Amino acid sequence: MAKIKYNRIVLKVSGEALAGSDGFGIKPPIISQLAEQLKQVTELGVQVAIVCGGGNIWRGETGAELGMERSQADYMGMLATVMNALALQDSLEHLDVPTRVQTSIEMRQIAEPYIRRKAIRHLEKGRVVIFAGGTGNPYFSTDTTAALRAAEIDADVILMAKNNVDGVYSADPKKDPNAKKFDELTQLDLINKNLGVMDSTASSLSMDTDMPLVVFNINEPGNIKRVVEGENIGTTIQG
Ligand code: UDP
Repeated sequence: MAKIKYNRIVLKVSGEALAGSDGFGIKPPIISQLAEQLKQVTELGVQVAIVCGGGNIWRGETGAELGMERSQADYMGMLATVMNALALQDSLEHLDVPTRVQTSIEMRQIAEPYIRRKAIRHLEKGRVVIFAGGTGNPYFSTDTTAALRAAEIDADVILMAKNNVDGVYSADPKKDPNAKKFDELTQLDLINKNLGVMDSTASSLSMDTDMPLVVFNINEPGNIKRVVEGENIGTTIQG
């Protein structure tokens, strides 16, 4: 049996990771690939919680830039994350992986409301828990949601899934050939060097709660398994 480094994970999946190359909408074949990877890790006995982003459908900031009231635009963003969560639940269920979606804004006809103790119970029973609706508050992000939920459920790590980028670099590797990849960083580096892994609210919450992060490329099949088994394929941020 392979050794497991992280027994309870929170995977942050941005909306972009569900959208494919055009960055927009939901592409079922892409979500199926993700669901396959998740099934692999549940079979190892790893407890999996997921926080879905919504940027493939709507971002509050964009609405505000176009003249909308920011909170209203943010609530639309939170609803977008619920659509992604339902699509991911559908894909996982096709693979017979038991799941529960919990929303921070009540939508009882389609999902459970977020209840921390219930989420932990689901995880203990081997169900994948998908947290949707962000924190339920405007002006926050789903990165912050991942930092918050990870602390609440006492996760071992947050896996920050990136699209075709295999870790954190000193500069954008697509633009700068001298960009250097970091294998390890501290939480303080993230804030001081402004490396763009998470927004500052999410970074400071994960630093305050001492929550390790691993940034890795989600597009390579099998990578989630590699990370939970402790293979050094991305950038680990800790301490
Ligand atoms: N959002 C919010 N509060 C939260 C989480 C998300 O208002 O706690 C809104 C916000 O408008 C954001 C949108 O939901 O732009 C989508 O989330 P995010 O941008 O984090 O998604 P991602 O970039 O990960 O796809």
